[in-house]
Amino acid sequence: MRSMSVGDFEKQIKKHKIKRWEIRGCSFCNYPISYLFVESGGGVEVLTDTGCDCVVGPSRITDYSMEGVISLYNMNAENDNPLAKRMYEDFYLSELEENPNGN
Ligand SMILES: [Zn+2]
Repeated sequence: MRSMSVGDFEKQIKKHKIKRWEIRGCSFCNYPISYLFVESGGGVEVLTDTGCDCVVGPSRITDYSMEGVISLYNMNAENDNPLAKRMYEDFYLSELEENPNGN
């Protein structure tokens, strides 16, 4: 798996209309802690939905950044971590490797 850029992810999020991606279940209550993707001004804004109040409060929806999503992916891809493999599939990243310049 190669490293991905912000542009790579934004392209796939828009193309496949990905609105939500579950990072993991809360270790206390198993609520699906997720990224939320909102298309905005040609780019993509990222929020996190912590859902429950076990770890973060009082706001359940907090600002995040696409750079954070990318570093989570790239860090895990280096080690062939299952989380990177799940992102690879869920964001259709193989499309970028098969056809890097196409749509
Ligand atoms: Zn929880």
